[in-house]
Amino acid sequence: MRNSPWLLSTAVLITLLSLPSSMVGQTERKVTKLAEGVYEIEHRENEGGNTTVIIGDRQVFVVDTCFLPSAAREDIAQIRQWTDKPVSFALNTHFHNDHNFGNRIYMDAFPALTIIAHVETKADMDRFGPGSLSREERDSYGVQQTLRAMLETGKTQDGRILTEEEKTEVKDMLVRQPKVIEELKKVKFQSATLTFDHDFNIDLGDREVQIKFLGRGNTAGDAVVYLPKEKIVVAGDLVVYPIPNMIDGYPVEWIQTLQNLAQLDTDTIVPGHGPILHDKTYIYLLRDLMKSAVDQMNEELRKTAPAMFHTLDDVKGSVDLTSFRTRFAGDDKDLGEAFDDVSARLVKLVFQEASSR
Ligand SMILES: [Zn+2]
Repeated sequence: MRNSPWLLSTAVLITLLSLPSSMVGQTERKVTKLAEGVYEIEHRENEGGNTTVIIGDRQVFVVDTCFLPSAAREDIAQIRQWTDKPVSFALNTHFHNDHNFGNRIYMDAFPALTIIAHVETKADMDRFGPGSLSREERDSYGVQQTLRAMLETGKTQDGRILTEEEKTEVKDMLVRQPKVIEELKKVKFQSATLTFDHDFNIDLGDREVQIKFLGRGNTAGDAVVYLPKEKIVVAGDLVVYPIPNMIDGYPVEWIQTLQNLAQLDTDTIVPGHGPILHDKTYIYLLRDLMKSAVDQMNEELRKTAPAMFHTLDDVKGSVDLTSFRTRFAGDDKDLGEAFDDVSARLVKLVFQEASSR
């Protein structure tokens, strides 16, 4: 289930229920022109991560192909309005399926397409991709049962009474879930066709695209795409705004990877999800959050005993990230709850990482 952020977010919504409006996310599809011939598409909620389209004189390069086939088709139709050049390259920033389920849709539309991924990302896609459809289906069934039970009882799983607004949202989710599964049933999984392990550059025709591996972070194979002339960087889920993704990952190395990312000369940062960032403040904030978690955990282990002699429950109380809460969430209650959830997962990841040393 590691590559099902779609259902993870749904599960988070169910447990949080308040159904935070800010977590429900993007209701509209949003397209932003970043430079002449460079566009970013923010998808609707549950359609997948952001897609970036880079158009050269000869060829088009797409970063991430999103999750829902209908959304990928919509993107392709839009690309065809922008240019008559073919999409020759699609790059998957990492293996989570909300960034690559659209691969096959692009390949059907552009048969000469090369799909690029870091070597570790392709390995994980090959491992988790083919089975991920049946997992989505099974997990969605479980989610639907939970939602139905909530409607019948009028309560959340932990017994809180649902508001009318929340009931409406639950009903909407119950309508959406089977539709998504019906769509997904038609997906043929398509993995990457070209791998890399460090850096390489592509010239699309008067447009240089640099593909970089800056270190592990969100996954073992996070790729970053950099346009040096336009000073644009596409960061994938190394950077998710306004609350980071902490499904799995490598916090210790992630700190350094964000540091490397911040060293690129850029004033436009496309996160894996969420709106475009125009400076590096948020990258530093993410770095500082993870560094604080790692430092506090190390200090506790130094004072007591190595991680192997502890359980997570023993030590998690020694890591306090509340000073970051308002820096991420402001005074938004829903974002605050999402931050608490993510902090808990970060502490767990940090502990797991310490245990494997
Ligand atoms: Zn994602």
